[in-house]
Amino acid sequence: MTAVETTQRSTRKSRRRPGKPSAVDARERRLFKSLDLDNDGLVHLSDVEAVLKEAGLAGPEGKFGESLVELNEPAAEPEPQDISLSPETFFQATRRHILLLERVLQGRLVVPDFAEFSNRIGDLFDEVKENRDGETADYIPQLDLAEPEADRFGLALCTIDGQQAAYGDSETFFTVQSTCKPVQYCLALEEHGAEVVHRHVGHEPSGASFNELALSKTNLPHNPLINAGAIMCSSLVGLTMRGAAAESPDPRGWKGRRFDYVVDRWTALAGGERPRFSTPVYLSERETADRNYALAYFMRESGAFPEGADLEDVLEFYFQCCSVELNAEMMSVVAATLANGGICPLTGERVLATETVQRCLSLMSTCGMYDYSGEFAFHVGLPAKSGVSGAIMVVIPNVMGFCTYSPRLDALGNSVRGIEFCRRLVAAFNFHQFDNLTGASAKADPRISRAEQQARRVNEMIWAASKGDLGAIQELLLTGSSLVSADYDLRTPLHLAAAEGRSEVVRFIIAHASQDATVSLSPRDRWGGTPINDARANGHADIATMLKEAGAKAGRNRAGLAPAETGGAEAGEAGKAAELIWAASTGDLTEIRRLIAQGVPLNTADYDRRTPLHLAAAEGQADVVAYLLRHGADADCRDRWSTTPLDEARRNGHDGIAALLESGREEDAAQKAAA
Ligand code: GLU
Repeated sequence: MTAVETTQRSTRKSRRRPGKPSAVDARERRLFKSLDLDNDGLVHLSDVEAVLKEAGLAGPEGKFGESLVELNEPAAEPEPQDISLSPETFFQATRRHILLLERVLQGRLVVPDFAEFSNRIGDLFDEVKENRDGETADYIPQLDLAEPEADRFGLALCTIDGQQAAYGDSETFFTVQSTCKPVQYCLALEEHGAEVVHRHVGHEPSGASFNELALSKTNLPHNPLINAGAIMCSSLVGLTMRGAAAESPDPRGWKGRRFDYVVDRWTALAGGERPRFSTPVYLSERETADRNYALAYFMRESGAFPEGADLEDVLEFYFQCCSVELNAEMMSVVAATLANGGICPLTGERVLATETVQRCLSLMSTCGMYDYSGEFAFHVGLPAKSGVSGAIMVVIPNVMGFCTYSPRLDALGNSVRGIEFCRRLVAAFNFHQFDNLTGASAKADPRISRAEQQARRVNEMIWAASKGDLGAIQELLLTGSSLVSADYDLRTPLHLAAAEGRSEVVRFIIAHASQDATVSLSPRDRWGGTPINDARANGHADIATMLKEAGAKAGRNRAGLAPAETGGAEAGEAGKAAELIWAASTGDLTEIRRLIAQGVPLNTADYDRRTPLHLAAAEGQADVVAYLLRHGADADCRDRWSTTPLDEARRNGHDGIAALLESGREEDAAQKAAA
């Protein structure tokens, strides 16, 4: 971390919130309970830190930075130790961001499985790093870097919830160059409004190189993201300040204040860290600026500038703005602020109006990548802006921003690695703005948790089959779900359709199987039963016959079918129930905690009345069984076949779990007797 941050941290330390902790309400208790692994009324600070770290929110500059420092204070004493926190202490320190905290604990951040996502991004980074093609820019001598600087590669990302990850040379400073153009445009819009700004600059891609000596048919620069347009926007930024300066007694010149203002805005966009400035690059650019001068004279000749604009001054201001320095981490926060409609995800400050951001992103989508803009829109489909220093800032609206920095450029002036990274990113994830989000593609959707994806893909189909909703089944098939998909008990849509007597669905699946060899009519569930067994056991002889005639085989019969109302299962949201059961069967405590924080009842059950405890017991997930029991799961729940979690543990030879369940039962009985 940089020096600035370190000093911020140490001043934070001394700021303890005074006063008595205030009461914790029911909603907070539910959140607390999810973290309270032993159910003893305390949470471990290390668990809290682990959750925040996994979410990508443990950085000192993030919203929980202060809270973590405050919670860690007692540990600073002689020996660091793991601190136990009461609900009051915990919320006293974290309550200033209670809604974000709730979403962290409930797994409802924009990228719920952030650790997994950031690892995959790390893999992409490593792949792209191998590419050493391209040359550094040479028309500004100071940008023509030698090795090893030329081979630097940094990447950083920040989501609209402030989740951050960084790779490689992400703290190396570079001049922003053309990535200042969207910012200059936004500042001009904020100061004068779109109507005035677009009297001086157009909205069309130029179809020519970034510094082409050409204006549009109306004699204006084509758009704000090529040189001519950015010079024009620069002539508008701070104009109001100049007007006021005439009457103001402020001894500082207005030009200095104008540049201060630009740097302040960058600081706010980047979440509070101040950019640097490169005097050598500024001077180098100024000395080699013939083309930009030519452009400015050309525009002056056409009368394109606002009244009173001084050509020399405007150009120097533009060169200064190009020479502001950020690193990839800071720039990713700028991009995230744009992704978040102008509110910085780290500070919560509104830096730009939503309309400003919308306009800027529209132009970044069509004009941000020099002569490659059309191809970039086609292949990558995201608003972006690149600069000749090797930076690319990319916005995934409503999700995240990222920045790549790698100075070697292709023939069109874009960072070679930056472009390759973008293309790989949208090949792996459905981030292209025209990617279809129904799930009908092989790309991953990091906006949805693992558990939710499984539940959607598998359980929705099985549940629809159990209810006889043929329309839903057909829709689900179109969006990538399959009739072959089996749940944690290897139950399939056909098992449930047969068990519930849904002849229409069974007929549909039989017809489907005749055309698709992967769809079996005799899939075996956990206990060896096939759909014919389900049909028979539930008294649907006609369905059993239909299946038999289609060539289906019977498997193992199970005794002890229970009437539907047995068992203490609570009604819950069906999709969430499935997520909880999947998580229990795979031992995913993180997901279980999140669902508990969402208030999903522990004794929730699926279409076979299977509960999380059944699956944890069947799969030998001892930690999960213990956790579920401590949090009040019912060890006596009976499923469709009257089986309890204890039966499951015994049947599968999990003796330790069986013992746990028995003692849980005794405690329950004792508690009931006492009550
Ligand atoms: N300072 C550069 C120029 O105007 C910006 C160019 C760029 O990054 O595209 O020449």
